[in-house]
Amino acid sequence: MHHIYKDYYPGNIVVPVLKDVNLNVEEGEYLAIMGPSGSGKSTLMNIIGCLDKPTKGDFKLDGLDILNLSENALADVRLKKLGFVFQNFQLLPRQTAVENVALPLIYAGVGKRERLKRAAAALDKVGLSDRINFVPNQLSGGQKQRVAIARAMVNQPKILLADEPTGALDSKSSAQVMDLFTTLNQEGVTVIMITHDSHVAGFAKRRVDIFDGEISEYKPQEVTL
Ligand code: ATP
Ligand code: MG
Repeated sequence: MHHIYKDYYPGNIVVPVLKDVNLNVEEGEYLAIMGPSGSGKSTLMNIIGCLDKPTKGDFKLDGLDILNLSENALADVRLKKLGFVFQNFQLLPRQTAVENVALPLIYAGVGKRERLKRAAAALDKVGLSDRINFVPNQLSGGQKQRVAIARAMVNQPKILLADEPTGALDSKSSAQVMDLFTTLNQEGVTVIMITHDSHVAGFAKRRVDIFDGEISEYKPQEVTL
């Protein structure tokens, strides 16, 4: 993406949030975007995830000129190319783990038997084959996030976007989530993760910092003794 600007217009004031953001992410990368609260991380993630459009700028995803696509075409990009994970899991409370994971397959037009089969396999992959019929409030935070990761991956998207995936988790569950992300990345998935935790950012292969809507490449400081 090049020269991305994003302003919000609450009421009749203008809130400039992203200011000339340039960011290239290669296929197969594992990138962390780090910045303090209010710096524009979620705003940027929503644009990368085709959930919102910038006020101006160029944005190509997998060769597609996103800003000129119709809403239908964008919905298709989100469904087929992107998986989303959020801080608060966003699971449906009355549906079991396997039903939650199967949800994106309904929109993809997959039949019920096949949906449940693929969802069960996705849950197996995140180590939850013994929890498939549990509803979210019968699961721990870390288990809920692993259900959410299984759901994000069930359509086999090329890109996984995670907005503060460990924000609500203890350190043990966070480590499990980081392990999963590393495995998925090793399998070829491009992972883009937002965090304000530098320890979590350290699991990514590359890090950029965002501060007050401006992006800069992170360069580890040289240690001088
Ligand atoms: P956090 O770490 O707290 O999640 P963030 O880096 O994700 O913060 P954003 O949610 O991107 O930050 O918000 C960046 C700025 O944009 C904030 O100052 C916020 O008030 C403003 N903002 C976000 N969404 C809107 C909106 N819909 N309308 C107006 N202003 C908004
Ligand atoms: Mg945010």
